[in-house]
Amino acid sequence: MWLRRVLLPSRGTLGVNSVKRSGGAGSLVAVAWLPQPACEFCKVDYTSSEDMQLGRREFVKYLLAAGAALTRAAPGGMPSGASLLASPRRQSGGANTGKTYDVAVIGAGVFGAWTAYHLERSGKKVGLLDAYGPANSRASSGGESRIIRMGYGPDEIYTRWAMRSLRLWQDFFSRANRPLFHRTGVLWLAGAEDHYARGTLETLGKLSVRFERLDRPELEKRFPQFAFGNVSWGIFEPDSGALMARRAVQAVVEEALKNGVDYLPEFAVAPGGTGHLAAIKTLSGGTVSAASYVFACGPWLGKVFPELLGERIFPTRQEVYFIGVPPGDRRFAPPVMPTWIFNADEVYGLPDLENRGLKIALDRHGPPFDPDTGRRVVTAEGVAAIRRYVAQRFPALKGAPVVETRVCQYENTSNGDFLIDRHPAFENVWLVGGGSGHGFKHGPALGEYVAARVTEGGAVESRFTLATKQKLQKRAVF
Ligand SMILES: Cc1cc2nc3c(=O)[nH]c(=O)nc-3n(C[C@H](O)[C@H](O)[C@H](O)COP(=O)(O)OP(=O)(O)OC[C@H]3O[C@@H](n4cnc5c(N)ncnc54)[C@H](O)[C@@H]3O)c2cc1C
Repeated sequence: MWLRRVLLPSRGTLGVNSVKRSGGAGSLVAVAWLPQPACEFCKVDYTSSEDMQLGRREFVKYLLAAGAALTRAAPGGMPSGASLLASPRRQSGGANTGKTYDVAVIGAGVFGAWTAYHLERSGKKVGLLDAYGPANSRASSGGESRIIRMGYGPDEIYTRWAMRSLRLWQDFFSRANRPLFHRTGVLWLAGAEDHYARGTLETLGKLSVRFERLDRPELEKRFPQFAFGNVSWGIFEPDSGALMARRAVQAVVEEALKNGVDYLPEFAVAPGGTGHLAAIKTLSGGTVSAASYVFACGPWLGKVFPELLGERIFPTRQEVYFIGVPPGDRRFAPPVMPTWIFNADEVYGLPDLENRGLKIALDRHGPPFDPDTGRRVVTAEGVAAIRRYVAQRFPALKGAPVVETRVCQYENTSNGDFLIDRHPAFENVWLVGGGSGHGFKHGPALGEYVAARVTEGGAVESRFTLATKQKLQKRAVF
């Protein structure tokens, strides 16, 4: 544990501009015992001993009041006291800095973080805004881990992007000295007539991705922790694996800040009008000016642009479980246990990474979900169903406890293709999102692609355009 002091404004609207008055007049400091931050970037500022100290109960009351005030200011959610806690150590002076950026990126999830990172690398002056903080617990990028696999059935474009991204993730992690990729291998399980798996075989072969085709006896020999049941054969990608998602995004943002990107812990109000957007307003009353704007707001895109995207981005509720493994049992941890996917069952899993337990989830779309206010507690039915599945697929884990859970949301487009396009009403506004349950791995390649479109122009791949995004869901990308 680690003693942290969190700055709180003494009066007026609770906005991020107040937070920057570190230790200055009008700031209160609450002292709270909080877990030690995972990375340098996550640390909150420390201030002088003159600051007033609140007891734990008052501190909690203060945060609740702060959250309520901000929720009143923005009905439907978004800003809350949480953004105060998430304020990174190194932040710019907030909105109204007097600077004009080349590009303002709104949203510091995996898409916005990598876009900001690449834009800065290409020499642009970048401001990066997030209302709740990079990879916060409501964000789609805020989970513990995400799969990076090359297989995409016959969908070559995503295999190419995954290949490019894996290289960029690995380069980034080695340069930044962050071991946030686990090369667990990815095992595709396939039924007898599995067209997707056959398409994957072909694409991997065509693009020279390393893989092995495994028949049933070979699967049983190599992976005895599985009960293969309805599985006929499999594909093993030895170079793929798992990204430690939340920490990876925070690392990208931290590196971007070191390189010169300004981080503004601000809620961007949806822009009105048409033509050339001169500035955006923030909830705290500031403005941020830039030549171009990239809205990478993930599941919030439909809230930010309700008329345009309210019916084209479909956030769905997704439950994730971590199953406790037997004591001292390494059969469910890498290198013995791979990451695995079985499309026929709509289930995927990750091994016991960093001792969190075996991760398992359904890849089936859940009910519609509000990223601000949606209930993030798993259901009893969900727990019972996953325990039944685990008992059947991994007999040694029959009766094993659920040790952690999460509720996150996919931000689906109608068919699962990403959205990367200009806003039809603004010449200098870009819409970026629609990760659709498979976007995380692609952050580096997507950021590179968006940065190039924003700075160099050029046509956008037709699959990513707004015109291809329908109002009826028919999933085609897995
Ligand atoms: C349970 C689950 C499992 C998944 N598994 C995988 C996987 O194994 N592999 C894979 O590749 N992908 C996976 N995905 C998908 C992937 O995680 C997402 O597609 C990806 O993280 C989306 O990133 P994003 O940057 O678009 O959105 P987000 O991460 O949600 O980021 C959007 C950010 O915008 C900010 N924001 C929104 N509105 C505003 C505003 N007005 N002003 C300021 N800030 C704002 C938010 O605070 C947020 O931080 C999974 C998703 C889930 C939920």
